[in-house]
Amino acid sequence: MIRDKLERFMRGRYGQDELNRVLSVSALVICGISLITRQPVLSSLSIALVIACLLRSFSRNTGARSREAEFYFKLKSGMFRFFRDTAERLRQYQTHRIFTCPSCRQRCRVPKGKGRVRITCKRCGAKFIKTS
Ligand SMILES: [Zn+2]
Repeated sequence: MIRDKLERFMRGRYGQDELNRVLSVSALVICGISLITRQPVLSSLSIALVIACLLRSFSRNTGARSREAEFYFKLKSGMFRFFRDTAERLRQYQTHRIFTCPSCRQRCRVPKGKGRVRITCKRCGAKFIKTS
Protein backbone atom coordinates (compact mmCIF):
# COMPACT_ATOMS: atom_id res chain seq x y z
CA MET A 1 0.00 0.00 0.00
CA ILE A 2 2.36 2.67 1.26
CA ARG A 3 5.11 1.22 -0.88
CA ASP A 4 2.91 1.46 -4.00
CA LYS A 5 2.05 5.06 -3.20
CA LEU A 6 5.72 5.87 -2.66
CA GLU A 7 6.62 4.17 -5.94
CA ARG A 8 3.92 6.13 -7.77
CA PHE A 9 5.13 9.35 -6.13
CA MET A 10 8.76 8.72 -7.11
CA ARG A 11 7.95 7.79 -10.72
CA GLY A 12 9.67 10.25 -13.09
CA ARG A 13 11.56 11.80 -10.22
CA TYR A 14 15.34 11.79 -9.93
CA GLY A 15 15.76 9.76 -6.72
CA GLN A 16 19.08 9.03 -5.02
CA ASP A 17 22.62 9.25 -6.34
CA GLU A 18 26.14 9.52 -4.94
CA LEU A 19 25.99 13.32 -4.79
CA ASN A 20 22.85 13.11 -2.62
CA ARG A 21 24.51 10.59 -0.33
CA VAL A 22 27.53 12.89 0.04
CA LEU A 23 25.20 15.85 0.70
CA SER A 24 23.23 13.99 3.36
CA VAL A 25 26.34 12.63 5.10
CA SER A 26 27.85 16.14 5.04
CA ALA A 27 24.60 17.51 6.50
CA LEU A 28 24.79 14.95 9.32
CA VAL A 29 28.45 15.71 10.07
CA ILE A 30 27.89 19.48 9.99
CA CYS A 31 24.78 19.06 12.17
CA GLY A 32 26.89 17.13 14.70
CA ILE A 33 29.58 19.81 14.67
CA SER A 34 26.95 22.54 15.09
CA LEU A 35 25.53 20.74 18.14
CA ILE A 36 29.00 20.72 19.74
CA THR A 37 30.09 24.22 18.73
CA ARG A 38 26.60 25.80 18.92
CA GLN A 39 27.25 27.74 15.73
CA PRO A 40 23.92 28.80 14.20
CA VAL A 41 25.61 29.19 10.80
CA LEU A 42 26.49 25.50 10.77
CA SER A 43 23.00 24.31 11.71
CA SER A 44 21.55 26.53 8.95
CA LEU A 45 24.06 25.04 6.53
CA SER A 46 23.13 21.48 7.49
CA ILE A 47 19.41 22.30 7.05
CA ALA A 48 20.17 23.85 3.64
CA LEU A 49 22.05 20.67 2.63
CA VAL A 50 19.10 18.47 3.70
CA ILE A 51 16.69 20.68 1.71
CA ALA A 52 18.99 20.55 -1.35
CA CYS A 53 19.13 16.78 -0.99
CA LEU A 54 15.32 16.45 -0.81
CA LEU A 55 14.77 18.85 -3.72
CA ARG A 56 17.23 16.86 -5.85
CA SER A 57 15.58 13.52 -4.99
CA PHE A 58 12.06 14.72 -5.79
CA SER A 59 13.05 16.74 -8.84
CA ARG A 60 11.43 15.84 -12.16
CA ASN A 61 14.18 17.66 -14.08
CA THR A 62 16.42 14.59 -14.28
CA GLY A 63 18.62 16.14 -16.98
CA ALA A 64 19.68 19.02 -14.73
CA ARG A 65 20.24 16.62 -11.78
CA SER A 66 22.43 14.38 -13.97
CA ARG A 67 24.48 17.38 -15.01
CA GLU A 68 24.96 18.30 -11.33
CA ALA A 69 26.09 14.73 -10.64
CA GLU A 70 28.48 14.91 -13.61
CA PHE A 71 29.93 18.19 -12.31
CA TYR A 72 30.35 16.58 -8.88
CA PHE A 73 32.24 13.61 -10.38
CA LYS A 74 34.55 15.95 -12.32
CA LEU A 75 35.24 17.94 -9.14
CA LYS A 76 35.86 14.75 -7.19
CA SER A 77 38.31 13.30 -9.72
CA GLY A 78 40.06 16.69 -9.98
CA MET A 79 40.52 16.74 -6.20
CA PHE A 80 41.81 13.18 -6.16
CA ARG A 81 44.27 14.03 -8.95
CA PHE A 82 45.43 17.17 -7.07
CA PHE A 83 46.11 15.25 -3.83
CA ARG A 84 47.79 12.35 -5.64
CA ASP A 85 50.03 14.75 -7.63
CA THR A 86 50.89 16.78 -4.52
CA ALA A 87 51.82 13.62 -2.59
CA GLU A 88 53.95 12.47 -5.53
CA ARG A 89 55.68 15.88 -5.74
CA LEU A 90 56.42 15.87 -1.98
CA ARG A 91 57.88 12.38 -2.32
CA GLN A 92 60.10 13.51 -5.23
CA TYR A 93 61.37 16.58 -3.35
CA GLN A 94 63.09 14.25 -0.89
CA THR A 95 65.21 12.55 -3.55
CA HIS A 96 65.23 15.02 -6.46
CA ARG A 97 65.58 18.70 -7.23
CA ILE A 98 63.43 20.36 -9.82
CA PHE A 99 64.91 23.03 -12.08
CA THR A 100 63.16 25.12 -14.67
CA CYS A 101 64.66 25.21 -18.16
CA PRO A 102 65.81 28.80 -18.85
CA SER A 103 64.71 28.69 -22.49
CA CYS A 104 61.36 26.86 -22.47
CA ARG A 105 60.28 26.83 -18.78
CA GLN A 106 60.03 23.01 -18.80
CA ARG A 107 60.53 21.50 -15.32
CA CYS A 108 63.58 19.21 -15.20
CA ARG A 109 64.07 16.65 -12.43
CA VAL A 110 67.61 15.89 -11.19
CA PRO A 111 68.66 13.48 -8.38
CA LYS A 112 69.75 15.35 -5.24
CA GLY A 113 73.34 15.53 -3.99
CA LYS A 114 75.18 15.08 -7.31
CA GLY A 115 77.01 18.42 -7.07
CA ARG A 116 77.27 20.57 -10.20
CA VAL A 117 75.43 18.88 -13.03
CA ARG A 118 74.91 19.76 -16.64
CA ILE A 119 71.20 19.40 -17.35
CA THR A 120 69.85 18.80 -20.83
CA CYS A 121 66.23 19.85 -21.22
CA LYS A 122 64.17 16.95 -22.53
CA ARG A 123 61.78 19.23 -24.33
CA CYS A 124 64.02 21.74 -26.15
CA GLY A 125 67.50 20.25 -25.69
CA ALA A 126 68.93 23.38 -24.01
CA LYS A 127 71.86 22.72 -21.70
CA PHE A 128 72.38 24.49 -18.38
CA ILE A 129 74.46 23.91 -15.25
CA LYS A 130 72.99 23.72 -11.75
CA THR A 131 73.99 22.36 -8.34
CA SER A 132 71.75 19.51 -7.28
ZN1 LIG B 1 63.77 23.53 -22.43
